[in-house]
Amino acid sequence: MDTTTAKRDPIPTCDNCVEPAIFFDPGLQRHLCAKHLCLGVELRVIDSVTSHGMVHDGDRIAVGLSGGKDSSVLLSILSHIVPERWDAEIVAVTVDEGIAGYREETIQSAVSLTQQLGIPHHIVSFHSLFGTTLDSLLGAHPLRACTACGILRKKALSDAAREIDATSIATGHNLDDAAQSVLMNYLRGDFERLLRDSSSREDRGFIRRIKPLADVNEKEITLYSMINGITGHLPECPYATTAFRAEVRTLQAAIEYHYPGASHRIIQGQENLVTMAHKSMTDRTIDQCSVCGDPCSRRICQACGLLAELEK
Ligand code: SF4
Ligand code: ZN
Repeated sequence: MDTTTAKRDPIPTCDNCVEPAIFFDPGLQRHLCAKHLCLGVELRVIDSVTSHGMVHDGDRIAVGLSGGKDSSVLLSILSHIVPERWDAEIVAVTVDEGIAGYREETIQSAVSLTQQLGIPHHIVSFHSLFGTTLDSLLGAHPLRACTACGILRKKALSDAAREIDATSIATGHNLDDAAQSVLMNYLRGDFERLLRDSSSREDRGFIRRIKPLADVNEKEITLYSMINGITGHLPECPYATTAFRAEVRTLQAAIEYHYPGASHRIIQGQENLVTMAHKSMTDRTIDQCSVCGDPCSRRICQACGLLAELEK
């Protein structure tokens, strides 16, 4: 075949202007150029934050900044939209878990971004908080890396947020993360976690957690980061391939590809279940961990239970 004369499909243009499209949203059946993709992402974040009352005047928001693309995009967007609308302060908090060959570069990326945006930045480490790094703690248990890392990082972030008198913690969880978490809880049969209504914890000892990127998917965040030069190429965590989440991510991506909008419906289904179960869930009592004193619904919180188990 003569490839010089073969007809090529014309590059589609943006549905909002005449620029070439760089993204097709299969759910909404829309082509978008770089500018309108970024505008759409920002508008969705503003809508999430305002419709869910995530930010109030007088807030000090601790943004969990790993240095990866999700949290970096979150910090970048919040640093622009919050000062224009609220009398609230933003502080970035990075947790150094102690993962050799990975964390150094992402921390450097976090430091550069906060300097560029003029945002105060606190770095806390597992070593200073728990007396050990994730690498040393795991030792013979590498398959539990992400479970241990997630539980301890959550505690480290909460402790750091309390230390700086933050009123809320913002994390970069996106739409795909949320759908994966629902699927993981189903696949583990963990209905207690599936039905947990985290929004009800605010007044019972926990610092409020907000997820302003919850309506934005991973592909949009990647493109937003590239278009705006927010993060460069970063290494992947060496433990990432051992995670159950990695397998569920592949599954969720395939479901979303074949059934556009499925991730939204998975999350909506879980929210409906939470609403239905809410009455019985409100009867749960919140107590204090007997080791560290953090609020929890058991005798010992997840972080202290895990540390005790790994030290055996
Ligand atoms: Fe932690 Fe797992 Fe993420 Fe690595 S991939 S940073 S071990 S949660
Ligand atoms: Zn456009």
